Amino acid sequence: MIPGSFDYVVANSVPEAIALLEQHGDAAKILAGGQSLIPLLRFRLAAPSVLIDINRIGALEYIRETDGVLHIGALTREAELDDSALIRSRYPILLDTSTGVADPVVRNWATIGGNLAHADPANDHPATMLALGASLVTVGPKGERVIPIAEFFTGSTFETTLQPSEILTEIRIPAPTERSGGAYFKLERKVGDYAVAGVAAYVTFDSNALVTYAGIGLTNVGSYPIKAHAAEQALLGKPLDDVSIHNAADLAEAASQPTSDTRGPAEYKRAMVRVLCVRALREALKRSRGEE
Ligand SMILES: Cc1cc2nc3c(=O)[nH]c(=O)nc-3n(C[C@H](O)[C@H](O)[C@H](O)COP(=O)(O)OP(=O)(O)OC[C@H]3O[C@@H](n4cnc5c(N)ncnc54)[C@H](O)[C@@H]3O)c2cc1C
Repeated sequence: MIPGSFDYVVANSVPEAIALLEQHGDAAKILAGGQSLIPLLRFRLAAPSVLIDINRIGALEYIRETDGVLHIGALTREAELDDSALIRSRYPILLDTSTGVADPVVRNWATIGGNLAHADPANDHPATMLALGASLVTVGPKGERVIPIAEFFTGSTFETTLQPSEILTEIRIPAPTERSGGAYFKLERKVGDYAVAGVAAYVTFDSNALVTYAGIGLTNVGSYPIKAHAAEQALLGKPLDDVSIHNAADLAEAASQPTSDTRGPAEYKRAMVRVLCVRALREALKRSRGEE
């Protein structure tokens, strides 16, 4: 379908984008890569009267690691994550995630900020960010906020704690420690599709190989991106072996809330969460040992 009519304005800086958001209020929407927003407009599921294009704010496009933190600008494209030597060498869980998003054409446009701000439970980055314990930096008329990812998604579909005049500017991820590993596994019906189910897992260990941190996020098995709290807690202080992995996977399955649809019956999706969680935790363990 053809979208309804709207005005189009370009913001050349973050302050300009915020001023435009303040000026136009609820009628306005930020346009990043457009890979979720444009389809919504075309289906007439969204009808903003103003689009504020942030694609020329080059200052929001970067990937760098400083002081034990990975900083990713919100306008960084999936393709830039795919190609980044830093991501390839130090953050394989992020590479699993970005390379699993859609297809190369979409990934040339789609931004990591748009993927998170859209808060689609079917999107892949939310689960990975929940697993990694990321923080999101937002800027609005009252200044900057740093929001822990677990407080960013509200529990309602497509809803976040971003305020109407705020934009997401940066994603912060703790750099990997010496004994840590993570992985994202996604089951798709065909290459480039949204997940039937997806599981991200990230673990850190002490010198006795006992788990000191566990993060587990689930994709497309509920109305919002799910953090599998009980599964995470159950791993703390334990070795990551078959018993603890299967116990965590059972708890992750219990945390999922899928519904039946064209991607399969709810029962099948729950079973896939268990299977993918086992795979993600085993891969995370291998990576923590430098076996991959
Ligand atoms: C064919 C196809 C297949 C897809 N498959 C997948 C898939 O497998 N996995 C997956 O995760 N996604 C998939 N997507 C969805 C899409 O790739 C992601 O949602 C995308 O990353 C959105 O980013 P964007 O930059 O295109 O955001 P846009 O579409 O420009 O914006 C999305 C929403 O976020 C808001 N927004 C964007 N940036 C900001 C910001 N910096 N601050 C505040 N608000 C902001 C916009 O106002 C809008 O509401 C697919 C899309 C298509 C078209």
